[in-house]
Amino acid sequence: MFAVVFMFNGTAITAGYHRLWSHRSYKAHWSLRLWFALWGAMATQNSVLHWASGHRRHHTNVDDYDKDPYSASRGFWFSHIGWMLRSYDDKSNDFSGIKDLQKDAIVMWQHKYYIPLVILMNIGLPVLLGYLNGDILGSFLLVGVLRLVASHHCTFFINSLAHIWGRRPYTDKNTARDNDILALFTWGEGYHNFHHIFASDYRNGVRWWQYDPTKWMIWGASKMRLASGLKKVSDFRIQKARLDMEYKRAGQNLTCEKALAQLEEQYEILLGALKEWSALHQQKLEAKAEELKKQWENSEAHTRYIELKKTLQEQQARWYLARNGHLV
Ligand SMILES: [Zn+2]
Ligand SMILES: [Zn+2]
Repeated sequence: MFAVVFMFNGTAITAGYHRLWSHRSYKAHWSLRLWFALWGAMATQNSVLHWASGHRRHHTNVDDYDKDPYSASRGFWFSHIGWMLRSYDDKSNDFSGIKDLQKDAIVMWQHKYYIPLVILMNIGLPVLLGYLNGDILGSFLLVGVLRLVASHHCTFFINSLAHIWGRRPYTDKNTARDNDILALFTWGEGYHNFHHIFASDYRNGVRWWQYDPTKWMIWGASKMRLASGLKKVSDFRIQKARLDMEYKRAGQNLTCEKALAQLEEQYEILLGALKEWSALHQQKLEAKAEELKKQWENSEAHTRYIELKKTLQEQQARWYLARNGHLV
């Protein structure tokens, strides 16, 4: 029960609060949003409105001492938990950056009933589960208390450790890091360097082998028609970001003039090839779509589709007459 509830809480934060609501990296069916709102309330990290408002400010002002609500430049403890414990104005009541979310009925409902939902999910549910399995105290301690502590710290690691420990393959303009170990504890959010440069992408672990259960979950939901419009940054932009960082680092390490000239030359050649490849890749995708379109246009189904459209219109007119008793 601990493991299952821990997972529901964690993924409601990563797939719901974070990638859906804060970054709008995909669209979700209302049932999925309700699911995230309930388990997210149980995770007790404030309502979606507060969370997304703070998180969007974190992205636009990353590392700024004052404007980033959990700025890593204030040290590990502040970014981990201190920003919530001290009397520090994180401006989470300023909802000017989340006007879009105020139109989401489920978000507004969760915000209005946040406290009752927290109590119901954190005390009511563990007690009910304990009643069902015959150990109310055990269930309350494990599913209620320990699960909340564990789930809290796993999220908080993203604001603290993921800005301190790891590599920076995509950008060094901010402190965000990619860290495979951290990804294990955070449902894939350990790939924070990628996330800070391409925040609209529904993936954080962008490579197929990177452990990002949240991206698999969103992808799975899209196959079940519960999620749609999954946003992906183009391969070209991702590869170019990596290439630029490698180029920059190599340039800092090399001292010999000749080697530097070689580096620049090879960089230009690779970038040119990458551009060409990405243009062709696009062409291939379009050709695929075109081919499918041609197949479809020549198919029997297509002819039938046109016929049926006409039949439907006629039938609708007849239906209208029938409903009003004019067919007799
Ligand atoms: Zn961050
Ligand atoms: Zn983010």
